[in-house]
Amino acid sequence: MERTSTSEADSLDPPQQDSIPNPPPDRTLPLKERCGRVVFIPQIGMAVLFTAPHGVWLHRDGQEDHKPEDYTTFLAKEMAGITGGSVATWSPEEIKKTKATGQPDPENRDPAYLHPAELQDDPWNLILEDHVQRCGVRCVHLDIHGRRDYIPDVNDKSDCDIGLGAMFASDSTRAKQLKTALHKALSRVLATTGYVVNSHPALQGRWSNGRLTLTQQSVSKGMTSVQLELSLSLRKELNKNRDLRRRFGAAIKAAVKGFC
Ligand SMILES: [Zn+2]
Repeated sequence: MERTSTSEADSLDPPQQDSIPNPPPDRTLPLKERCGRVVFIPQIGMAVLFTAPHGVWLHRDGQEDHKPEDYTTFLAKEMAGITGGSVATWSPEEIKKTKATGQPDPENRDPAYLHPAELQDDPWNLILEDHVQRCGVRCVHLDIHGRRDYIPDVNDKSDCDIGLGAMFASDSTRAKQLKTALHKALSRVLATTGYVVNSHPALQGRWSNGRLTLTQQSVSKGMTSVQLELSLSLRKELNKNRDLRRRFGAAIKAAVKGFC
C-alpha cells in the first residue's frame, strides 16, 4: 500500500477499529447545512480550493486514530485569503472539542481515507463537487497537510512535499507541469530559509488499496490537484512569520494560476 498524507500520525501499529458510519446528510438541504461539521467558504477571486482535512483527531478505518496536524487549518484559511480562493476546514467547534478531549469524536472519520461508495454523503466530497461545479474543471484543489520533521533513515529530508500521486495517475503531462511550477515558485520563496522543497516525496497523496485521498477524489472530478505536506518546523514558521506566509501564498498563486 502506498503511504500518503499521514505526517505525525504515521503509524505502523496494528488496526484498532472498524468503520464508524457518519450520519448521511439530508440531500434536500443547501450545501452549507449539509457540510455539518465542516466550514466551507466559497470565494470567486481565484478558482482554487484549499482544504485542511486533518485539523482534528480522526478515526481511520482499521488503523490507529489520526492525530491533528497543527496549524494546517490556519494555513489553509490564510492561503485562501492571500490567493482569493475558497477554503474548507473543520469547524471551530470540532477543533475546540478535539483539543479538549485529545481523541476523535465518534462521528469524525478521515475524509482522506474513504471508500468510493461513501463519497456521495461525505461533506468534504460535496465541497469538492461544489467547487468543480462553480468553477468548471479548469480549477485547482490544494490539499494542505502536516508531515513530521526530517528524521534520518525514517522520512524524506524535506519541509514541503509536493504530492502529485493522484495527478500522475490521471494526467502525467499536466502533473509534470504543475510539479515544475510549484517546485520553482516554492523553492524560490524558501531559498534563504533553509527549508527544503521536495517534488519527489514518499508521501504522494495516493492510496492504492481502494481508499481515496482528497486529491484522488478531486482528480476524479477533473480538477488539477496537489497535496502539500508541510513539516512541523515550517508550519510553525509560517504561523508566526506573516511576511513568509504572504510570500508562500503568493508563490502558490503564481504557480497554479496557469491551471485555473
Ligand atoms: Zn494529513
